[in-house]
Amino acid sequence: MKTILTGIRSNSVLTLGNYLGALLPMVRLANKHSGDSQINIFAPDLHSIISDVDGDLRENIIRTFKYYLAAGLKVNENVHIYRQSYVPAHSELCWILDCVATMGETSRMIQFKEKSKGQESCNVGIFNYPILMAADILLYDAEYVPLGEDQFQHIELARNIAMRFNHRFGAEIFTVPAKTSDQVKFMGVSDGLRIRDLLNPEKKMSKSTVAENSKIMLDDEPEKAAKKIMSATTDSIGKIKFDMWGQPGISNLLQIEALVTDTPLQDVIATWAGQTKYGDLKKKVAESVSEMLTMFQSRLAEIDDAEVYRLLEDGEKYANKVANAKLLEVQKAFRLR
Ligand code: ATP
Ligand code: MG
Repeated sequence: MKTILTGIRSNSVLTLGNYLGALLPMVRLANKHSGDSQINIFAPDLHSIISDVDGDLRENIIRTFKYYLAAGLKVNENVHIYRQSYVPAHSELCWILDCVATMGETSRMIQFKEKSKGQESCNVGIFNYPILMAADILLYDAEYVPLGEDQFQHIELARNIAMRFNHRFGAEIFTVPAKTSDQVKFMGVSDGLRIRDLLNPEKKMSKSTVAENSKIMLDDEPEKAAKKIMSATTDSIGKIKFDMWGQPGISNLLQIEALVTDTPLQDVIATWAGQTKYGDLKKKVAESVSEMLTMFQSRLAEIDDAEVYRLLEDGEKYANKVANAKLLEVQKAFRLR
């Protein structure tokens, strides 16, 4: 059985962009493949602490897992949820891989350059987390790692580390994850889906953006979310057309409408083609988003923490078993055992 693995940091409440671009596609992928693959969905809590956390990390993690369940994730004997820090093999393997990876390749990581830029003193975790990420992946022989395109360089790094390690010891100890081009094919997205910032639609929606009206949070009151859509930036062209470069604001609204109503984008585009009243489009999208949030939040309210803790307990048992077995192979290769 192949393994599909993914995680999402729980540093704050998630946005509609995180939901539509990461959570929902992962839930669909998991439900589709849970008969033929192992699906590992983990909370990268050790990655969370490389930067500030809004609120209480433990509570944030439970909330994120509830999001998955509310989005329709079905946990069964092949679908596992776990917290990274509850599986100590991750940090142990990270150290070992630190001794395999080179300063040169790690220093080339764009995320490191971006995250450390302008910081007078940057913590070592920001530099080292791609290696921890390699450990997260390689411990479970994961072949597919559905993540956003900002993480592709880290997947390539994990591939290089795995190949170097296997070569050094002359054995296929690690499964080399699929190339990012194949990851994209597997996820079934032609190019990375990007929900745009509502006020500055040339940028993507991000949870760390300060302006409240730029982003829709999953815990926004539905009416508040509708108001944010109504105040979204559009353009002065006056024609509804899907053109992410020329009309990013309008195109973003069409894209959101398609995703939250689960309608093919082409159908939404056809419905609105040639129309001129931006207000009408906004009203419709505002309604759709508020309906989606109402439904999502009511499903969320039905899931209790105890259920999540029970699933985590099972998941962490499974994860420790698999991860410790892999770690032992690695330790033996280095003659630590
Ligand atoms: P931050 O501002 O802290 O970087 P973020 O909103 O960009 O937050 P991440 O934690 O970086 O979120 O990413 C979590 C997941 O959500 C990733 O898989 C990422 O690709 C996806 N994602 C983030 N923003 C969007 C977006 N606007 N549209 C679609 N997917 C997104
Ligand atoms: Mg981001």
